[in-house]
Amino acid sequence: MEDGRKIFHGEIGIEDGKIIYVKEGQSGNSTGEGALSGREGGCPGMRNAQGTGAAWDEEIDAKGNLVMPGFKNAHTHSPMTFLRSYADDMKLQEWLFDKVFPAEAKLTGDDIYWLTKLAVMEYLTSGTTAVFDMYKLKKDSARAAEETGFRMVFCGDMNDFGGTVEEMEQDYLAYNKDPDSLLSYQIGFHAEYTTSREHMEQIAALAGKYEAPVCVHCSETKKEVEECRERSGMTPVAYMDFLGLFHNGGCLFHGVHMDDGDFDIIKERGISVVTNPASNLKLASGIAPVKRYLDMGIPVAIGTDGPASNNCLDMFREMFLVTGLQKVVCDDPEAVPAMDVLKMSAVNGAHAMGLTDCDTLAEGKRADLIMLDLMQPNMQPLHNIEKNIVYSGSKQNVKMTMINGKVVYRDGEFFIGESPETIYRNADRISERILG
Ligand SMILES: [Zn+2]
Repeated sequence: MEDGRKIFHGEIGIEDGKIIYVKEGQSGNSTGEGALSGREGGCPGMRNAQGTGAAWDEEIDAKGNLVMPGFKNAHTHSPMTFLRSYADDMKLQEWLFDKVFPAEAKLTGDDIYWLTKLAVMEYLTSGTTAVFDMYKLKKDSARAAEETGFRMVFCGDMNDFGGTVEEMEQDYLAYNKDPDSLLSYQIGFHAEYTTSREHMEQIAALAGKYEAPVCVHCSETKKEVEECRERSGMTPVAYMDFLGLFHNGGCLFHGVHMDDGDFDIIKERGISVVTNPASNLKLASGIAPVKRYLDMGIPVAIGTDGPASNNCLDMFREMFLVTGLQKVVCDDPEAVPAMDVLKMSAVNGAHAMGLTDCDTLAEGKRADLIMLDLMQPNMQPLHNIEKNIVYSGSKQNVKMTMINGKVVYRDGEFFIGESPETIYRNADRISERILG
């Protein structure tokens, strides 16, 4: 997934959740006879080893498929699956304060556990190997992620209605303790418009203590920016920077309405932006200036936002929207080409979430990868595979999703320790109880 790397026929060796080699061609032990494969690795014989020597637990013939790093959904709220198609076609502020917040107040930890499992299923079918998840009651999401074998980076979700800086520090230390864990944590809070200055200053102090970036919803709507200007005399980006929140970088979710000064601050502070085009369209929030960010060298990642506003957790749809919208807005069909979009979804997402060892397929990296079926009508002919994925690809092409060297989804079957029926039944039960 680096510029200049060609797509090649090859093989990947995986051991203890990590990639131990990526090579062109195939070894004598491989059963594959060659196939198209992904940048920085692809494989007719993708082999899982345990122990030493050439004894492999499993060889996966990837002939006719493309292997590439998994997509990173860099902004979502997984447990909101229960709100899918519950409140739509409404203004953001009414949607959030009249519908979403009251329903969320009724959620228990057990609800969050089941609703996260439902989201994980959807992520896996979309070729997503990690998400950046902002929600409350993280220990219940954590249980769901660990049991299903899913990689989740938590984002602090504090606001004036819930959470404390002390809890955030405890979570930061607890979830970042084990580098081999599927779980990790980034400091963050809900948004400037839901969080007092006093709380934001406390969060800035915490981020300073650990020299950590701060991640937050920012400048999603015009109204949010206008109200922040009235309160502080500054835009949300400038105000939060003034409070010291971005001294160690950060990550802005949405980043739709920016003025010239905001771009400079984002660039100067090394902040990433996570764009959420479907959610922004559906709530009529606007279109993020993705091309301008990229032209300035600001890293942009892609997220779905939660299933209450999107309403699906499908990275293929987001990828198409990212490029399609920029082409229209910039009146430039050359804007944000397919390869840039793939890099945003697989590599930039990993970096925005702090997953520096899950970004590409290379020796020593985590085996977080997907296999896309190219032998389907929407992928033929193979003039340009990157363009096929972004402009023509869909979830139907996801043949396999592997996280940390473990196959968790393959050919429509889930290997997550729970039957889909049990997860659907529990999600239905929770939705019925809360929404009636
Ligand atoms: Zn969000």
